[in-house]
Amino acid sequence: MLLGELLRHGEDVLQATSSSARLDSEVLLACVLGTSRTKLLVALRDECSEEVATQFLRDISRRAAGEPVAYITGYKEFWGLLCSVSPAVLVPRPESELIVERALALLESIPAPRILDLGTGSGCLVVAISRELCDRGERQFHCDAVDRSAQALAVARSNAERHGVGHYISWVESDWFSNREALSPPYDLIIANPPYVDPAEDTPKELSFEPREALFSEDQGLRDVKSIISTAFEFLNPRGVLLVEVGAGKRGALIPFLDTMKLSYRFLGDDSVADNFTIVEARATE
Ligand code: GLN
Repeated sequence: MLLGELLRHGEDVLQATSSSARLDSEVLLACVLGTSRTKLLVALRDECSEEVATQFLRDISRRAAGEPVAYITGYKEFWGLLCSVSPAVLVPRPESELIVERALALLESIPAPRILDLGTGSGCLVVAISRELCDRGERQFHCDAVDRSAQALAVARSNAERHGVGHYISWVESDWFSNREALSPPYDLIIANPPYVDPAEDTPKELSFEPREALFSEDQGLRDVKSIISTAFEFLNPRGVLLVEVGAGKRGALIPFLDTMKLSYRFLGDDSVADNFTIVEARATE
């Protein structure tokens, strides 16, 4: 069979369950071949081996059952960096790149910054930020990256090492701020992508493959977000900033809560459900 025919077959099988059947099929086949999508696309007339076909068809059936492509290939690209993932961590979402972008802008004016990443998961945020700071020539920064899952911390650590920033990050097993002694405040910046999906919401099948505790939060998805906002300012320096991803459609429910706190805040991102994200940027008022 030719690679092109195999690719088309994968696409046909995925048509019923995936909105990105062609792309999924390309990514999965390129991964089995150990090549890039671009190289695959110029090799479509090549014959493929029996082993490649068998492995690819196995992967296609996992994908057809709803498993995210990233768990099948074992990686996802985030901020242009290859990020290993396992079912112990959430698959990085492109919308979270806005946290990286905003964090980097805020950190421009802060020499030797101290950063805390809450619920680091795959480590994608802290690794991307650290990589950029290094590339800028900043060598004095330090990050603490927290997760309550030791398995997630192991994935995050391997991602940091892969991208040469392990040296700048301490890994802390903690349920948000619970492991106080292991944290080293005051921080200039705290970032978090906590679970914020309302358990009562209808969610796509793909989410059932991801760790529940990284996705769902009581109180309409706001329990963890509120808990982080309530405590973060004890750990930030007086001019420090908090960036929390909170999910789309949550602004209305969050505003009354934010208004009870001594904070100035604004929302970043798009609150429409289609775009599925909103980020709160908050700082203490003097
Ligand atoms: N954006 C993700 C989703 O809706 C949720 C990520 C999260 O809860 N932090 O699928």
